[in-house]
Amino acid sequence: MLYDVAVIGGGPAGSSAASYLSKAGLKVVLFEKKKFPRPHVGESLVPSVNRVLNELGLFEQLEEQGFLRKYGAAWTTVNTQQNVNHNFDGMELLEQVDILFKERKQPDRYRDYTFHVDRAKFDEILLKNSERLGTTVFQNTGVQNSDFSNPDYVELDVKTDDKVRKVKAKMVVDASGRDTNLGTRLQLKISDPSFNQFAIHSWYKNFDRKENELKDYIFIHHLPFHHTWIWQIPITNEITSLGLVTSKEHIKGRTMDLEGIFKDFLANKFELAERINKAERIRTFTLEADYSYSMKQMAGDRFVLVGDAARYVDPIFSSGVSIALNGARYATDNIIKAFSKPELNLKREAFKEYEKIMNAGCRNWYKFITMYYRLHLLFTWFVKNPKYRLEVIRFLQGDVYDEEESFLLKEMEETIREVEKNPKHVWHNLLNDIQHTVVKQ
Ligand SMILES: Cc1cc2nc3c(=O)[nH]c(=O)nc-3n(C[C@H](O)[C@H](O)[C@H](O)COP(=O)(O)OP(=O)(O)OC[C@H]3O[C@@H](n4cnc5c(N)ncnc54)[C@H](O)[C@@H]3O)c2cc1C
Repeated sequence: MLYDVAVIGGGPAGSSAASYLSKAGLKVVLFEKKKFPRPHVGESLVPSVNRVLNELGLFEQLEEQGFLRKYGAAWTTVNTQQNVNHNFDGMELLEQVDILFKERKQPDRYRDYTFHVDRAKFDEILLKNSERLGTTVFQNTGVQNSDFSNPDYVELDVKTDDKVRKVKAKMVVDASGRDTNLGTRLQLKISDPSFNQFAIHSWYKNFDRKENELKDYIFIHHLPFHHTWIWQIPITNEITSLGLVTSKEHIKGRTMDLEGIFKDFLANKFELAERINKAERIRTFTLEADYSYSMKQMAGDRFVLVGDAARYVDPIFSSGVSIALNGARYATDNIIKAFSKPELNLKREAFKEYEKIMNAGCRNWYKFITMYYRLHLLFTWFVKNPKYRLEVIRFLQGDVYDEEESFLLKEMEETIREVEKNPKHVWHNLLNDIQHTVVKQ
């Protein structure tokens, strides 16, 4: 049997790519090395996913399944005397800022909210949907090798239990996440020394999210160390996901276990620590390390990389699933066109629009994230400033792919340069050590 497309990985990128391709009538096979449902990090979505969820017939299903609605996001800053209540151009900096997605209209995004998700359930729903649309799915089956030496097809070695067999497809979509199956084999991966991060996370029951209108927002709580923050993501009415992200340099030499590290950092945010200590932890801590990288190319002859397999940017703005779903949408648009034009012969050229749009989108995310880390008070100040607020919300909604260039990034960059040049600037000592060359990228 010769498939049209073989997809490696059944996470959000793989299942939605498979769904679009099957919907278009292509013969698709998907290999997922794990058995679903399986837990996964990445639980808070941004509204730019809604378009894909809707096109694949999933939005209402998620609504019916009772996933919590996400209406907005909030950030608490580090509350030291040094950086609170400073005035800058007449703007007071507050200890907390928040945004509501519906402040900025998104005409083609269907709803002014999105979801927080239990990824075990969410990913399984997406994978089943690809099966419903015609994809042949093999779980518990990992792809080991892809051989591109034949000019007419790719031959994959796939392993179920101890058995390895060969499968042929005209092309491959690698959606293997941070395993970066093809990118690693083809030596395309470029790791990013600016974000050498480390995260630990768990689920808590009865964590007090406070009974107010921000109860179901995602919260990002800053801690007084560079690159360090805690996420608070509501999963159900009772369960909250809490995770610490920090730079690996801050954990060097610490000998305690993961919970010990979590509590040690948390001690710097007294009020939050108190609330967490009163809650009941219901999962062991999971560790995620070594993330942030790009690839020399996102596509090649007979292959396309999608989602984390193509690019990974720091998760501070919950961009990952958006990149996975939107990437799948743009990639499959190119793939479907390529199948209707045999003369393109599934060469890299056929996927150039995908590479262009995703490179631009990821560059936007990356710059925004980098400047945020460089001087996160600048972000709070831009959120409060009416001139920039809607543009910041556009980024937080994830509308960074097919919209016009943003003046926001340019103005943020200019402000950072001013602060860098002026040692007397009230924010100068708050500049983070992120490499400036990265901002120039
Ligand atoms: C600390 C942290 C916090 C995050 N928070 C958020 C957040 O709040 N919101 C958000 O949107 N994103 C977040 N992310 C990012 C998010 O987790 C990812 O961007 C998202 O899961 C990418 O989806 P994907 O389908 O590309 O990869 P994955 O979801 O990782 O799926 C890849 C799948 O491929 C399978 N696979 C791997 N290798 C093979 C193989 N050889 N053969 C077959 N199958 C294989 C894996 O088992 C897996 O199921 C976070 C990430 C981290 C590290």
